[in-house]
Amino acid sequence: MSELKLQHLDKIYDNKVQAVFDFNLDVKDGELIVLVGPSGCGKSTTLRMVAGLEDISNGKLIIDGRDVTAKPPKDRDIAMVFQDYALYGHMTVYENMAFSLMLRKENVNVVHQKVMAAADILGLTDQLNKKPNQLSGGQRQRVAMGRAIVRTPKVFLFDEPLSNLDAKLRGSTRREILLLHKRLKATMLYVTHDQTEALTLADRIVCMSMGHVQQIGTPLELYYTPANLFVASFIGLPPINTFDVVIKDGHAVNSEFSVALNAEEKELLAGYENKTVVFGVRPEDVEQGGEISVNVFSNENLGQTTLVNGVIGKHKITCKFREWCSYKPGDLVRVSFKRKHFFDKETTNAIR
Ligand code: ADP
Repeated sequence: MSELKLQHLDKIYDNKVQAVFDFNLDVKDGELIVLVGPSGCGKSTTLRMVAGLEDISNGKLIIDGRDVTAKPPKDRDIAMVFQDYALYGHMTVYENMAFSLMLRKENVNVVHQKVMAAADILGLTDQLNKKPNQLSGGQRQRVAMGRAIVRTPKVFLFDEPLSNLDAKLRGSTRREILLLHKRLKATMLYVTHDQTEALTLADRIVCMSMGHVQQIGTPLELYYTPANLFVASFIGLPPINTFDVVIKDGHAVNSEFSVALNAEEKELLAGYENKTVVFGVRPEDVEQGGEISVNVFSNENLGQTTLVNGVIGKHKITCKFREWCSYKPGDLVRVSFKRKHFFDKETTNAIR
């Protein structure tokens, strides 16, 4: 069992910068949690507090029922994989993986078994005698994971492990991490600024902004029911389109369009009659055919889909159509909106 409880964690650095505010999370045994948000939002600080590399200013960290808030890293039974791999250049792959176990003075035969098992899982069996500089970036990343695996820690921590890899390798290594997670059934905390990584890897996502947790939920929940405008804009690519609209007589209206609300939306927005709210529609929820005219300025074919950028009056909009389109600048496309999101203009919270 490896459960993790982060309770009311604050981090205030020596220079009085507060990087994390009241972070609360219960991680279940075997869960893969992804912390996601823009650069500087406090993800790495949170991870480093769990690792014991940063002091916890306020709050408690509990691993399997044991309060480890003030314990040094070595007493927390966790393993961290960094983005820069942090491999020892003068050691072979085998030695890199064996190193932490040797430090712990484990039996040589046990060390050998563990290294060989990890190498097998990671497809590194043929590379064990090489030095890190003889490996590709992807292989080095796997060695870094191997070093974590041999320790059979309670919790794996990943700090942007894929950010030094090129796009293609990122995709394949991401899938490897997912398989690894399934195979090891390990509890993992994974930090990234990349929403695609978060959506594809996570059992649950923690979306952060400026040191504050914005929403915790499954990828599906964050995508379909974002808690606020920040999450709606951060999760989903290209980002959600937003417009200010006024709610009037069962319609969401602005100077360029008027969208009829269905019964459910009318009920939801009953308290907002004659008020301005933020209306959001994801590019993939804009459909061809309808009452609203988009004046096209670019058409990007992505294979099975086409990204069409244009304007409705003065407002920019991105549409993602599920077919090969060949619009030209100046063309008018009629569209309608499928799934609609509404946010309170002042609080930016989703109207639910
Ligand atoms: P992220 O991982 O989301 O990019 P970080 O956790 O690295 O964000 O940083 C969060 C905030 O804390 C940022 O404003 C950053 O400048 C600040 N910060 C990070 N490390 C330190 C430090 N050692 N001393 C002071 N401020 C720091």
